[in-house]
Order: sequence, then structure tokens, then C-alpha cells
Amino acid sequence: MFNAILVTQNEQTIQSKLTQINEVRLPDGDVELDILASSVNYKDALAITRGVPVIRSFPMIPGIDLAGRVTRSDSDKFRTGDLVLLNGFGLGEQHWGGLAEKASVNSDWLIHLPQGFTPVEAMAIGTAGYTAMLSIIALEQHGIQCADGDILVTGASGGVGSFAIRLLSKLGYRVVAATGRLSEAEYLKKLGAAEVMDRNELSSPGKPLQKERWAGVIDCVGSHTLVNACAMTQYGGAVTACGLAQGMEFPATVAPFILRGISLYGIDSVMKPLSVRKQAWQRLSELLSSQDMVGIYQTISLEQVIACAQDLLEGKVRGRVVVDMSAS
Ligand code: NDP
Repeated sequence: MFNAILVTQNEQTIQSKLTQINEVRLPDGDVELDILASSVNYKDALAITRGVPVIRSFPMIPGIDLAGRVTRSDSDKFRTGDLVLLNGFGLGEQHWGGLAEKASVNSDWLIHLPQGFTPVEAMAIGTAGYTAMLSIIALEQHGIQCADGDILVTGASGGVGSFAIRLLSKLGYRVVAATGRLSEAEYLKKLGAAEVMDRNELSSPGKPLQKERWAGVIDCVGSHTLVNACAMTQYGGAVTACGLAQGMEFPATVAPFILRGISLYGIDSVMKPLSVRKQAWQRLSELLSSQDMVGIYQTISLEQVIACAQDLLEGKVRGRVVVDMSAS
């Protein structure tokens, strides 16, 4: 038996609880793991509190991230005892996920734990940090350099935002952090933000073209914020879109694209091919030390996950939440 968060659906009612599950119920997979750490992402919080649309089949163990130790492997890529990492690929959506003590997964989804990170640190980064890195790689590939100007990060005190600020500042970019929690200004400056702005300046409908302020943007919130960010991006600049914390809609005009030649890059972390994941995690391990992550994450136990999911959706959580399976 192992402990897990299980989400069930009874007619239209969703229930999430910590429960014990018999190992024989683990799904088919060519690698079995003891999960050492997981994390609570925005998507996990939605899965735990609302179920749909994140969860595609019930009952489901949520958790889009895991770090663990291999206990059985039918794959020649992994051996018993290997430390591994998994982000996305439908984990916690279509396939039992990381908020449990055990998992059985497809070896094609796994990578070895990058050198230098403990399982807890890898989960502190998790899908959020890896998505921040993918967003930065998109800006770099667009050709944006530190001297080109400021980079705006929205949803700044969240998981993706916090890592985006930390990583951009380590790379030498000047970062402006947009937040609804001005009380977190000190935290954001410690991460490396040069300036902190109130997200209300971006969240309402604005003019199609506005004063050119950003060389690049990493947007985590969508809706009018993303539209205004595009309208304020300087000629030839680039914007990445990964999230929808404000909303899924994109009520924009084409003006920034056809008059300023800006580019909008969609960032998906879930189905990224392994080669791109490995490149992103390699960059993360080169850029981040344990010291860089101090203050960005808190550690909780599996018992605390359901309460944390509610807090996260209410915007009460700063940075990242790691679930340490050895914590009680
Ligand atoms: P978090 O919940 O940690 O952070 C989201 C942040 O968005 C909050 O901390 C808050 O920042 C801001 N925010 C919340 N509500 C609003 C609102 N109504 N208007 C404007 N800003 C708001 O989530 P993550 O950082 O983990 O994820 C951010 C987004 O990116 C989510 O939508 C998530 O689903 C998505 N995502 C997508 C991925 C992909 O592959 N495309 C991968 C990972 C995440 P503040 O208080 O500073 O304003």
C-alpha cells in the first residue's frame, strides 16, 4: 500500500482526499519509482479543487511533476536505483501522477536527475522553472540581448514568474516584475527584479499601440495583460505566453504585429520533446545553485497538499511549493 492524493468524480461532484492505494492498482509502465518529491503547480491546484478540465479520466492521482528513485525497470535507459525526473507528458492529467509515494510510468517520459540538484531542488524548479527556462530560450532564440532593454515578467510572485526573474537576472537582463502583491516587492527585488510594477497597470483594456517599454516579455497570465504587454513591446521585440492566471481570452488587435513587427511565442512544457527538455534542464543546472533557490520555495508534506491547492488558487502562495514525501 502507498499514500496518494486521489481525485474521484461522483456524478458531477469532485472529491480529493489523501488515501492508501494498493500497489497492484498502479498503471502499466516500464519503470516503477519511489517518488521522493513532487510539487503543487497551478494545474495541480485546479485538478485537486475542480477536477475538470485538467483531469481526463477518474480516479486520478494529480501531480504533473515528480522526482524519484527507480525501483524496477524494463527499460535499458534506466536502472534500479537511478534518480529520475518527470515533468508533464500527461502525468496527473491522463496518467497517475506525482502526488503519491509511488508511480509506474513510461520510460520515454523520464530524464535522469540533472547533476547538482537534489530531488527536492529539482521539484522546487519543477514544471514552473522549466517553463521559465523554455520562455527565456525562446527570447534568446529571437535574438533579444541584455542591451536591448527591459524584460517584463507578469505573474511575478508565482512559480514561473519567480524563476523567470531569477534566471533572467542571472543572465544579466534588466527585469521589471508585474505583481498584484506589492507587499512582495522586497522578495521580487531579492530575486533580481530591478523594478516592481502594480499588475493593475496592465490588467484592463488598453490602446492597441502604447509607449514602447519592453524588449521582451514573459507572460504567465494571459487576457488583457498579455494584450497590453504586446502593445508595449518595442519594435522587433518578442513576447512569450505560457499561462492564463488572469484569463484564457486574448482580446487583441494585430497592430503590434503588423506595425511593430513583434513576435508572440507560445510556450508549452507538457509535450516538449526530450531533447528540448534536456537542453532546458542542462541550462537550469548551469545557472542555478542551491543558494539561488533559497526563499523561492517552501516544503510541505502530502497531508498538506489539498489545503495548499486552495491557497494557491486564491493567490496566497508565493513562489513554489515542494511536496517532500519524507516530510510528515
Ligand atoms: P502560480 O499560481 O504560482 O502563479 C500565478 C501568478 O499569477 C500568481 O502568483 C499571481 O502573481 C498572478 N495572478 C493570479 N491571478 C491573477 C489575475 N487574476 N490577474 C493577473 N495575475 C494574476 O502559477 P505558476 O507560476 O505555476 O503558473 C503560471 C501560469 O502558467 C498558470 O496559468 C499555469 O497554468 C501556466 N503554466 C503553463 C505551462 C505551460 O506549459 N504552458 C507550464 C507551467 C505553468 P502576482 O501575485 O505576483 O500578481
